[in-house]
Amino acid sequence: MIFDTVIIGGGSSGLTCGIRLQEAGKKCVIISSGQSALHFSSGSFDLLNALPDGTKVTNPIDALKELKAQNPKHPYTKIGEEKFAHLAQEAQRLLADAKIQTVGSYHANHYRLTPFAITKPTWLTMADYVYAEQPDTFSWKNISIINFTAYLDFHPNFFADKFRRMGMSVREIEIDLATIANNKNNLSEMRSTNIARLFDNGKTFANFANILKSKIEKSDAVLLPACLGLEHADIVDTLSNILGVTVKLLPTFPPSVSGIRSQYLLKQRFMELGGTYMLGDTVNKVEFEGNQVTKIYTVNHNDIPLRGEQYVLCSGSFFSQGLVALPNDIIDPICGLDIDYISDRKQWFADDTFDKQNYESFGIKTNEHFLAIKDQKTIDNLHVCGASLGGFNALKDGCGGGASLLTALYAAEEILGNKK
Ligand SMILES: Cc1cc2nc3c(=O)[nH]c(=O)nc-3n(C[C@H](O)[C@H](O)[C@H](O)COP(=O)(O)OP(=O)(O)OC[C@H]3O[C@@H](n4cnc5c(N)ncnc54)[C@H](O)[C@@H]3O)c2cc1C
Repeated sequence: MIFDTVIIGGGSSGLTCGIRLQEAGKKCVIISSGQSALHFSSGSFDLLNALPDGTKVTNPIDALKELKAQNPKHPYTKIGEEKFAHLAQEAQRLLADAKIQTVGSYHANHYRLTPFAITKPTWLTMADYVYAEQPDTFSWKNISIINFTAYLDFHPNFFADKFRRMGMSVREIEIDLATIANNKNNLSEMRSTNIARLFDNGKTFANFANILKSKIEKSDAVLLPACLGLEHADIVDTLSNILGVTVKLLPTFPPSVSGIRSQYLLKQRFMELGGTYMLGDTVNKVEFEGNQVTKIYTVNHNDIPLRGEQYVLCSGSFFSQGLVALPNDIIDPICGLDIDYISDRKQWFADDTFDKQNYESFGIKTNEHFLAIKDQKTIDNLHVCGASLGGFNALKDGCGGGASLLTALYAAEEILGNKK
């Protein structure tokens, strides 16, 4: 099977790269083993929330010079200031074209809530989520926070306490979905995705909306856990119209309904543009000749190789098994590329979970154009993108989503020969 570009991994970086290449008329295949980090998304894409020394970032572009000084290895340093703004804008355009509705801009961070109700800066937030332009500036006075009986992924008390401390009147309403849906099988499995599927049933949704309408009294806003809209976000607008009041979502613990929806919409967009998506297949062998990849093999296609002029590795980090930790080594199990890491295992992690963890910054070594390095030599037709890359701490710097989208777009532009 011959393609222009073969992409390994179908999370946010693989799909973004594939979409951009398909838009430009290239013929791409994405091979993806399964779930991506998007399934655990908070509902926001972070671009750059903090510098390595902990300084908070309000304007990511203004912070790039200092980021370069503090961490010359960061992928944004390779991208460079001018291209950074162009790619961030492109990422916003690409998400919008895929019908992923977000608020925010790369010019300035806004603020989102975590599932613990902590306020954090971010780049783009799903349009149906609670967000604020400045920390904790909400105009509501009376709000209703909804929860569902036996729901495992949401803790409304964190949010209720926070909003009460801000002087709001908060009504907490618990609804037993099992009685509304008349589906007792779901009682022991009240996870976000199962609830979202219950609401896909029009009758259950209508029953829920009617019951809610009778309970919210004079609320300025009704805040629900983000467990609606596996395929489409408009269910929140529909509910808002029925109730006649603002409805917004609060983040839950994983699984993330909005993350799964984003993954689905990106995949749809890639396939609408003519891309081939092989879900549930795993790349198990990559062949090299000199400084080029020549063929890749997958579990499902056995001895039939996939070939391309260009290859892109988007297999993620430890979380997606794009990187694997052995007792005293860190490896890329797919291509055997060189890894940027600390050889002394004792320095891989800090004892306090909330401290900076060095392993977060381990990843595949690349040259200044994100071309892979193997046995200290550059591989000319293999770009590496997203969480597979080394040199940055997505959690501490708050840049995971942005680094994945921007490096994927950078690789696509390189492959297309766009040097802008
Ligand atoms: C739990 C968690 C929560 C996060 N929350 C946020 C957040 O709120 N905001 C934010 O901005 N960032 C967040 N991030 C970071 C951000 O989501 C990730 O950096 C980004 O989504 C990574 O995208 P990716 O495509 O590079 O990798 P992944 O999303 O990890 O995708 C890699 C894909 O490659 C596939 N794969 C691996 N090996 C093979 C193989 N051999 N063959 C075929 N396919 C393979 C995997 O199945 C997976 O689908 C979070 C990360 C994690 C882990």
